Amino acid sequence: MVRTLGEKGHEVVIYDNLSTGYRESVLHGRLLVADLADAATLDALFAKEKFDAVAHFAAHIVVDESVREPIKYYRNNFVNALTLIETCLRHKVERFIFSSTAAVYGIPERVPVTEGALLLPINPYGASKRMVEQVLQDVSHASGLRYVALRYFNVAGADPASQIGQKYKDATHLITVSLRAALGLRKELRIFGTDYETPDGTCIRDYIHVDDLIEAHVLALDHLFRGGTSRVFNCGYGHGFSVREVVEEVKRITGIDFPVQETGRREGDPPALVADSSRIRQELGWKPRYDDLAFIIKTAWDWEKKLHGKT
Ligand code: UDP
Repeated sequence: MVRTLGEKGHEVVIYDNLSTGYRESVLHGRLLVADLADAATLDALFAKEKFDAVAHFAAHIVVDESVREPIKYYRNNFVNALTLIETCLRHKVERFIFSSTAAVYGIPERVPVTEGALLLPINPYGASKRMVEQVLQDVSHASGLRYVALRYFNVAGADPASQIGQKYKDATHLITVSLRAALGLRKELRIFGTDYETPDGTCIRDYIHVDDLIEAHVLALDHLFRGGTSRVFNCGYGHGFSVREVVEEVKRITGIDFPVQETGRREGDPPALVADSSRIRQELGWKPRYDDLAFIIKTAWDWEKKLHGKT
């Protein structure tokens, strides 16, 4: 998002505690290294700058960790988001973009899932995000703040020019872990559960390229600048791949037959999450450019190789 806003000539300020991020990933703008829990520092920043809009990305995102450490998730994803929203209200920043998640749906009755489906999260990660959506809805009703909550499905891939990509020390996401197994940085890829009620027994997810997701943010921002109302949008392509399909595709793209171990289910995983994204296509004119699993994996592969000095 910072890369894209910078390319478009926006002035960006990044507020990040660098708990999982890196200074060198900030390609544009000014970085203030501080914690969202530090309400005084946040307030001082808002007093100094006159922000037109805030995009809130700062959250913990690992589903099974959220099951093991719920307080960590509620504290950062919920309490700290409240602090940020309150700071926006105090300083009359009335455009807000929120990174939400498909995990708010829990186990949807129907897939592809629409935004109107029941929100019954099955892990603290999804619950913490749903709570923030609720706060935004209520705050938006009670004040001039307008927001767009984007429910991300499985964000994957990297900048096609390999300038920037995911850089987790302990990666947990399927495509990254598979690529690291291909590079020999992990001894194997473990498939978490082969007894789900899906055609091949493994979980199905809707993998969306990060640049298409960012385009959704840009359109959401335009919408708010046009005076648009508060909205919630799914961000996914509308079709999914099973874990086995992804692993096979990673092997094909990399040309490396890394070891795969089938193990039991991971806690908190719903069987299938696929977006019905017709709302964002219709209302914001979102047209994804990279709806292609091979391309997603290829960009992530180029990035992982660069990251680990294997180019
Ligand atoms: N997965 C897996 N092995 C791994 C990592 C993930 O089998 O090493 C599965 C996981 O159980 C889920 C899917 O891949 O069904 C996507 O998981 P990921 O962590 O990438 O994203 P999530 O859907 O949890 O946000």
